[in-house]
Amino acid sequence: MLSRIDLRGSALPGPRELAQLLPRAATDIDSVLAVVRPICEDVRLRGAQAVREITARLDGVDVPDIAVPQAALDEALATVDPTLRAALEEAVRRVRTVHADQRRTDVTTDVVRGGTVTERWVPVRRVGLYVPGGLAPLLSSVVMNVVPAQIAGVESIAVTSPPQRDNGGLPDPGVLAACALLGVTEVYAVGGAQAIAMFGYGAGSCAPVDMVTGPGNVYTTAAKRLLRGLVGIDSEAGPTEVAVLADDTADPVHVAADLISQAEHDPLAGAVLVTTSEELADAVLDQVPGQVAATKHSDRISTALSGSQSGIVLVDDLDAGLAVVDAYAAEHLEIQTRDARAVAMRVRNAGAVFVGPWAPVSLGDYAAGSNHVLPTGGCARHSSGLSVQSFLRGIHVVEYDEQALAEVAGHIDALANAEDLPAHAAAVRARQRA
Ligand code: NAD
Repeated sequence: MLSRIDLRGSALPGPRELAQLLPRAATDIDSVLAVVRPICEDVRLRGAQAVREITARLDGVDVPDIAVPQAALDEALATVDPTLRAALEEAVRRVRTVHADQRRTDVTTDVVRGGTVTERWVPVRRVGLYVPGGLAPLLSSVVMNVVPAQIAGVESIAVTSPPQRDNGGLPDPGVLAACALLGVTEVYAVGGAQAIAMFGYGAGSCAPVDMVTGPGNVYTTAAKRLLRGLVGIDSEAGPTEVAVLADDTADPVHVAADLISQAEHDPLAGAVLVTTSEELADAVLDQVPGQVAATKHSDRISTALSGSQSGIVLVDDLDAGLAVVDAYAAEHLEIQTRDARAVAMRVRNAGAVFVGPWAPVSLGDYAAGSNHVLPTGGCARHSSGLSVQSFLRGIHVVEYDEQALAEVAGHIDALANAEDLPAHAAAVRARQRA
């Protein structure tokens, strides 16, 4: 379990080559497009009937209506365990607190006298939020998707989550309770690619959306890739991953527990320890088997930790460690070193960074206030996690008066002629007084 990669003793290659050397899940989204394309096409052509038939085939549930009735949402909230309800309420409170600070205000810039550009931040009108439910009912993902959309001012919010055989074909009761708690009334019992297609094309009572967000498995993510353009998507949030950058001050019990906790999500989940300390690496390896054996989903975790996507990387020093974690661009990155905050501030690529011994990745999964829908597979090099910003578009509003246009006309003329687009220049000249 947990292979070792020893990068000590020689200069590290550049970021691209380094990334190739590091453990990473081989989720090939393209390889499932052949399965996902006909699913999406069927939903486009036959709507809700196709969704029901595909759901019966893939989820083993015949749902009479893909829309969850309001009574089921009310019932889920009325019967949810009080401890779970209190935890959900606290998670919502913290996520709201953090995301409220992400609101954008419109900015008007005076470019010249008589010429302004205003950036208006306008919410997407209707969004479809995907809450996974194949391996684990991710009720926390309801909070992470819905709260930023609500704070952004999205007018119409629909949530979908796979139907559960043990809940009469409805999504998990905790997912329904979380929706009800947040005031979401439009909820569907649909999972996977067919859910994304339902959002993209519309099906039954579900009208098409403008944007789809949320994590999911390879089929869900492939459908997002396929329908991108027809709808907007957040990042491709695939199988989860954690990297831990640690030195000899880290506690091996904690490091092992944190690697295991993310591996619990998925047999494809990645867990990578990058360390300057061979003693820590040995101690973590000693810890893992016992901790895995003691946990409920030990099979799934063992598969994830022994897969090629997980491992321990030994480096000469923290500078090399930072180069490695930047090349890896983890969805979640823990810093378990001396001066952890200073080290964290040097990180360039990560979805979210967890600093020091008291901020395990599980805190961020549920109740830090940060978002847990984060870019995986190295996408943290160019993308951010879900936020209020994800649901806003900046629209430039350009206002120039006659004098301000006249002053810049000569420059537009020169630029338009250089591009061999004389009609552009003519459109400005037509406005000039003789
Ligand atoms: P899921 O809800 O995305 O997928 C379940 C659906 O997949 C089912 O409803 C079924 O219709 C469909 N499906 C199953 N087998 C299929 C097949 N052979 N062909 C076509 N469709 C099929 O959920 P999941 O499986 O639980 O996966 C959730 C994923 O989300 C995990 O990989 C987890 O690591 C990841 N995740 C990522 C983040 C993030 O921010 N990156 C956060 C949370 C979870």
